[in-house]
Amino acid sequence: MDCENGGLYGKTSAYYATVEQQGRLSLHLHGLVWIEGALSPQEIRDRLVNYDTVFETQLVRYIESCCQGEFMTGSFQSVVEKFEKPNVTEHNNVDPTLTLLVPPPNPCRVEPINDVLCQCENCCDLRNWKQAFQDTVDNILLNSNMHGCMNKYGDCTARFPREIHPETSVDHTDGRINLKKREPMMNTFTVVLTYLLRCNTDVTCILTGTAVKALVAYITDYISKSGLTTHHVFKAAYDVLLK
Ligand SMILES: [Zn+2]
Ligand SMILES: [Zn+2]
Repeated sequence: MDCENGGLYGKTSAYYATVEQQGRLSLHLHGLVWIEGALSPQEIRDRLVNYDTVFETQLVRYIESCCQGEFMTGSFQSVVEKFEKPNVTEHNNVDPTLTLLVPPPNPCRVEPINDVLCQCENCCDLRNWKQAFQDTVDNILLNSNMHGCMNKYGDCTARFPREIHPETSVDHTDGRINLKKREPMMNTFTVVLTYLLRCNTDVTCILTGTAVKALVAYITDYISKSGLTTHHVFKAAYDVLLK
């Protein structure tokens, strides 16, 4: 999240996280990251309703780099087709959620750092790596980030399918931002985090004061959460026996 050159989302000023144990005993982390120098929700709203277009462009670009809600290489249908057929690329032979990441190759040998057309060995390697990176992220998303839990009434308790937005838009009457989101059954994520962690992740920019308070309360709740309830223990034992 944070390092000397700035973190994945900017320089971190604070973070807070708790581990939750699910009914089926798997652990997962809920966390919040505060970014140094970030404006408050009220300050952001004031700038947006006053048509500060330079700020708006930069803010949208920043948020879109932090989280997105669609595949890197195409629609759900095209990604399904790509990974259903075996051996299309060398990278979908193995389940990416069971492998480690491949670090990027060394930078360009030709100085100054060249554009996409540079034919040096490193730049060729980098182009191949970027393609494999995108395919891997899409494969992980297909395996881990598509929501598929309908109850017996066909309803979803996690409010899927979600609203889709072909492009990011800003409502200048109240400063509301509707982030670009093109897959209704996918939650939002950070590309690099998906590549690193290789599992389901959910990343959202929290842009209202109410949402900040609600999430702090929600996450804090896990610190004091008592052990599993009896019916969860029996359900977990039952699920294990069925396997
Ligand atoms: Zn090069
Ligand atoms: Zn659901």
